[in-house]
Formats: sequence, C-alpha cells, structure tokens
Amino acid sequence: MESYGLIVLGSGPAGISAAQAYVEAGGPGPVIVLTADADAPYERPPLSKETLTGSGPAEPTPLTEAVLPDGVELRLATVAGDIDPDRHTLRTGGELLAFDRLIVATGSRPVPFPGADADADIHTLRTLADATALSRAATHARTALVIGSGFIGCEAAASLARRGIATTIVTPESTPQADRLGPYAAQQISSWLTDLGVELRTGVSVTAIRAPRTVHLDDGTTLEPDLILAAVGIIPQGEVAAVGEATAYQGRLVADEHLQVTDGVWVAGDAARAMHGIVGRALDVEHWGDALAMGALAGRNAAAPEQQQVWSEVPGFWSTIGEHTLQYAAWGDGFERAEVAERVGGFTIWYADAEDVLVGVLAYNADADYERGRRLIAAQAGIGVALSGGDLTPEE
Ligand SMILES: Cc1cc2nc3c(=O)[nH]c(=O)nc-3n(C[C@H](O)[C@H](O)[C@H](O)COP(=O)(O)OP(=O)(O)OC[C@H]3O[C@@H](n4cnc5c(N)ncnc54)[C@H](O)[C@@H]3O)c2cc1C
Repeated sequence: MESYGLIVLGSGPAGISAAQAYVEAGGPGPVIVLTADADAPYERPPLSKETLTGSGPAEPTPLTEAVLPDGVELRLATVAGDIDPDRHTLRTGGELLAFDRLIVATGSRPVPFPGADADADIHTLRTLADATALSRAATHARTALVIGSGFIGCEAAASLARRGIATTIVTPESTPQADRLGPYAAQQISSWLTDLGVELRTGVSVTAIRAPRTVHLDDGTTLEPDLILAAVGIIPQGEVAAVGEATAYQGRLVADEHLQVTDGVWVAGDAARAMHGIVGRALDVEHWGDALAMGALAGRNAAAPEQQQVWSEVPGFWSTIGEHTLQYAAWGDGFERAEVAERVGGFTIWYADAEDVLVGVLAYNADADYERGRRLIAAQAGIGVALSGGDLTPEE
C-alpha cells in the first residue's frame, strides 16, 4: 500500500491551493492530488463568460492563481472514496492508499433538472467537458433556453445572447437574483440581460422536459429551443468523502474554524460547511476566491496542526454579466435591510441584519466601496458607518 504525507481530493482552486500551501509551509511528503477531473487544473469562472461567448471550441484557462509545486503527484480521472479516518486510508479504483493527513476539496456538481426525460437533451455547466459540449451545441443553435436566474444562469444567458443566439431565461423569481440581492440589483441585472436581447420569462417554472427538447412551463406554454441549459443550483460533494463520524450537512463536510473535520482531515471550498472565525456560525461558501483562500488555509493548517490559523476572510465573489461586473462580499446567509447608494455609472448596495449590523455589500463600478465594505463587514460595523462613508484602517 502506497503511503502519503498528504492526500488532497480535488483539483479545483481549493485542492490546488491546499497542496501548494502545504508544501510551502513545510508539510511532510510525499503529496498527491487525486481528482475526478480528466483535465489538468483550469479556471471555472470563464466557462460561463469568455469561453462561452467565443464562437470557437471551449479552450481551458489554465489555473495560475495556485500552482502545484514540483514533486507533487497529480492523478487525473481518479475518483476517491471509502475513506477510513481511523486507519487513515482511502480507496481509488481497486487501490488502497494510506495518508497521514487528508484535505477534502471535492467541490460540487450541478443539480440535474428534475422532471426531465432521461434522454432529454439538457446541458449543465461545471467542468471543461461540460463547456466543450455546450459550446459545440451553441455553434448550431439559433435559440437557447436557460433554466434558472442564479449567477451562472445569468452569465451564460448573456454569453449565449452575445453569440447571436435568441436566448430566453425561465425563472420562478420575480426578477433575476431578487431573492438573494433585493429588488434594485435584480432590476439592474434584468436590464443588462434584456439590453443584450435575452427574453426574461419570470414567475414561471418548467414543469417537464420531454426528449429531446420540448419544455413545458407552468403557464401552459411549451418551448422547443435548439439548446437547453439547466442552471438550477449545485450539490456539494463533501458527503462523497464523508469521513467516519464526521457529520455531513446537506452534502457539505462540517468543519471547525480551522477547517478541520476530524483528526488528520481538513475540508475547503464548496464541499465545506465551516465555522467562521468572525461571525461564529457555520457558513456555506461557493466562490472561486474563497475556495483558493480556504484551500491555502487548510494546507497551512494540515502542515502545522499544532499552530492552526482561523478562517477569517469575508466571503465574496465577482460576477460578469455581459460587460457588467458586480463585486459582492457577504456572509451569504441573508439580510433584513438593503440601502442603495446610486452614482453616475454605478451603485453600491449595503445590506444589514435585523440589528443594523452590516452583513454584505454589492458594488458596481465602485471598487472603493467594495474594499471598504469588506473591512466594515469583517469589523461587524453598523450600516450607519457604511452609509456615512466611514471606514477602518486595514489594521483596525
Ligand atoms: C461556470 C461557472 C462559473 C463560475 N463563476 C464564478 C465566478 O465568476 N466567481 C466566483 O467566485 N465563483 C464562480 N464559480 C464558482 C466556483 O467555480 C466554485 O466556487 C469553485 O470552483 C469551488 O472550488 P472547489 O475547489 O471547492 O471545487 P471545484 O472547483 O468544484 O473542484 C472540485 C474538484 O474535486 C474533484 N472531485 C470531486 N469528487 C471527487 C472524488 N470523489 N475523488 C476525487 N476528486 C473528486 C472534481 O473533479 C474537481 O476537480 C463558477 C462556477 C462555474 C461552474
């Protein structure tokens, strides 16, 4: 049986940054990354943006924000499971591997559209292989239907429309992202989409999809698009790697504020439900930059379990819909009050909880507010401080 100082599961941002940080922190080897992905590490965010807008085949954007150090083994197209945290072993194919430390960075996968014929022609978008199939279908499509108005649905619809495809979004939301970001942001996003020619069918749900592409809506109408993309959410894959007595919650592996699951096991990225060091509650985070940061923290902590650092980054992401980029930082578990500050060519929305404590910021063409917001959210400042232009120095 081969034995490793560290095994990392997953070659997304969390897995690669974990391996890199572990080696840089002097963690004992050998180190191996096992990944179900068949392709060398690449960036996912362009898959719904530049990659899909381009008229050619999907090209990967290599992952450069984290890089595997020399000597770290990468095994592609390798699914790991059967983790035994007591014996410190796992299985991949017929092979049993032993680890001293394990970092689970298994990410998530798209929710398959429920109520569809098994042989219906429906795309989802997560991997480079998904993007390749979607781009190929888009080459021949004159009409497209995107189901869902989350960020991936909005980004992909904008990209398909920019290719000249007549694109429709069907969503049960009253306006895209209204539930998550409130009515003002939702209205802005709607106008960006419609300006690109995207048709929005809001307040409507898909009830069934019959093979190959007959889509039935609950308003009684039927659509026959050339291409269907279901962007109706993700299923975290932490449970795939559920370890012994470690609890999994809605597919995520539950961890403490050091991202530690149990003795010798850490989790990072979409697969984690970790206690946050500042807010003192468990957060689910599904963002690229946070996966990089959490992976790096898990790697450092695995390298030095006696001196573990606390997860204290304010989660956040950027989303690009057509040519419009939103910057968002928030704990991500809701808000009670939203205050909009408009300016020429941009806006900022400040979100607060029931006690008027700042819990989020959404910035459009307002970089300074985004950075200030991150500092104020981390300090758990009142929304009044944000609205009056107040700030903290980065050291406070
Ligand atoms: C199209 C698209 C656009 C996006 N755009 C943005 C954006 O603009 N901004 C943003 O912040 N976020 C964006 N995201 C979300 C972001 O990509 C994810 O939050 C991020 O990839 C999570 O990183 P991760 O490392 O936790 O998981 P993943 O990137 O999902 O990687 C998980 C890895 O684990 C592997 N794996 C799974 N199970 C096993 C197993 N049992 N054994 C071995 N390996 C396994 C997978 O093959 C994969 O390599 C986007 C996502 C998509 C799909």
